[in-house]
Amino acid sequence: MGYLHGFAVTLRQLFLPRVTTDYRGGFDDSPADEKRPKPERMHGRHVLNRYEDGMEKCIGCELCAGVCPADCIYVRGADNDPDDPVAPGERYGYVYEINYLRCIHCDLCVEACPTQAITESKLFEFSFTDRADAVYTKDELLVGDDGSPRQLPWEDWRPGDDAMTSGWMRATSPSGDHRYLGVEAWSGELGYGVRPPESPDTADPPALGPSESVDGQPDSDNTPEPDPGESGAQHG
Ligand code: SF4
Ligand code: SF4
Repeated sequence: MGYLHGFAVTLRQLFLPRVTTDYRGGFDDSPADEKRPKPERMHGRHVLNRYEDGMEKCIGCELCAGVCPADCIYVRGADNDPDDPVAPGERYGYVYEINYLRCIHCDLCVEACPTQAITESKLFEFSFTDRADAVYTKDELLVGDDGSPRQLPWEDWRPGDDAMTSGWMRATSPSGDHRYLGVEAWSGELGYGVRPPESPDTADPPALGPSESVDGQPDSDNTPEPDPGESGAQHG
């Protein structure tokens, strides 16, 4: 008689609220065509960000390509023209490609990036019919002059989808450390400015003594010292 319990489980679903939506890919104007809101830290389609002055954040260091487990990022760096630099510092990302036939949206490239150049938006509704479209070039990944991501013909962007393209907290972010509560740990971003610090992981962080550090090791100074690479716009 145990199988009757199985039927009961199935029948019970008929009377529960429906959790699916009538998503149609944006191919018709039906008001029923609905995209469900994404979690704030969802890993979607990447963007290459710019500083508030329009300079590109990518310095062509290839760390993202080196860490990618799917081997789907191809980066070539080039020297900046001192009189007309593309990015702060000596180098910039001359070629940048991501192959979305391989990407598993693990976010390791974002974790590895020292300048917050590569981040992931909330867009997951994109598909293609040929390989060339699946390999996103730098031109397609780089945000525009207003800081918004480029919207490609095969992508289903809706109002608000282009907001907070880098709104996420990396696992190694000092913003997750309660000692950094209220300390800005993000560089200014074109179109979005400097985002406020994110909340620490715990609502009521434990108080540290004067000689206690967050890792339990003796620490004579608990004053947060944000990594220069994480704090504020680091370019001139
Ligand atoms: S999200 Fe993961 S798989 Fe995709 S490009 Fe980044 S490191 Fe590679
Ligand atoms: S996106 Fe970041 S990690 Fe990748 S090459 Fe550019 S600066 Fe380096």
